[in-house]
Amino acid sequence: MKALVLKEPRSLGLCERNDPETGEDEALVRVVCCSVCRTDAKMWQSGHRDLVMPRVLGHEISGYLDNERVAVWPGISCGSCAFCLAGRENLCASMQILGFHHDGGFAEYVAVRRTSLLSVPDTLPMELAALAEPLGCALHGLDRAWVRSGERVLIYGAGSLGLFLALGAAERGAHPVVIEPDGRKLRKSHTFRDRFAIGSAETPSVVSGLFDAAFNAASVPSTLDGLRKLRSGGRYCLFSGLQELPESAASLFAGLHYRELQLLGSYGCTRASMASALAMLERFGGDLAFMVERKLPIEQLEAAMPDVIGGKYFKMVVQF
Ligand SMILES: [Zn+2]
Ligand SMILES: [Zn+2]
Repeated sequence: MKALVLKEPRSLGLCERNDPETGEDEALVRVVCCSVCRTDAKMWQSGHRDLVMPRVLGHEISGYLDNERVAVWPGISCGSCAFCLAGRENLCASMQILGFHHDGGFAEYVAVRRTSLLSVPDTLPMELAALAEPLGCALHGLDRAWVRSGERVLIYGAGSLGLFLALGAAERGAHPVVIEPDGRKLRKSHTFRDRFAIGSAETPSVVSGLFDAAFNAASVPSTLDGLRKLRSGGRYCLFSGLQELPESAASLFAGLHYRELQLLGSYGCTRASMASALAMLERFGGDLAFMVERKLPIEQLEAAMPDVIGGKYFKMVVQF
């Protein structure tokens, strides 16, 4: 099969290799689409805490198991610890991830635990089914931060993840506002935001009033300023890792004490949030189709990595 292998940072090579071996509890999935995550591009650029090389990257996968259309939850968890039993398998201490610890979806075939397969609704195009993982991460974040009907929600970043968070919040009856300094990027989602009553601004300073919850779908330290835009008792979800702490961290965190703000984190997604994402993609698929801005063959992926880092497209999807 064809596979794109990261041998070391900045060195991706397309090679012919044997199809992956499958264990007793695994299935061989023929990859149809694997969408490209910012994390894939960062791993290509400089590696990652959880990455073991050489590695086939790619963790946003849809494909076929025989004739069945499937999406892949990319985690491999123990299944028996307290976290796994409580449906919080993304926190399992022995968690491993396809595309990080094991070979992922930038290849014609991928070996997947049978328990990680989710079935794709008949009407959902496979390129959108590949977005179930990132959308699942957004839904998981909304659950973590208890976003409820009637609440005002501030979201930093109007890339694909920021827009997924906003749509999920709107579907719960909340009122999302996205902050995006790049006016060109903001204009690209204009129709979508209008349709789902998603507010927007280029800076938070022009948004009036306070918010019940805030999320960063961008990793610049200034996104933590959202703590100052929360009402007392509000929740801030660190949805993206921060590049560094802002200089004013001590005064920002004073709000955690005096105003009983809550700072919480969200990482990855569970099977259940991915299943919810597939159902949501079935409901909103046509409205989300604009997010797949570029489809490309595996041969062109390495050359496109700088565009992924630069956030040029909402989503790029590798098609086999
Ligand atoms: Zn990802
Ligand atoms: Zn576990």
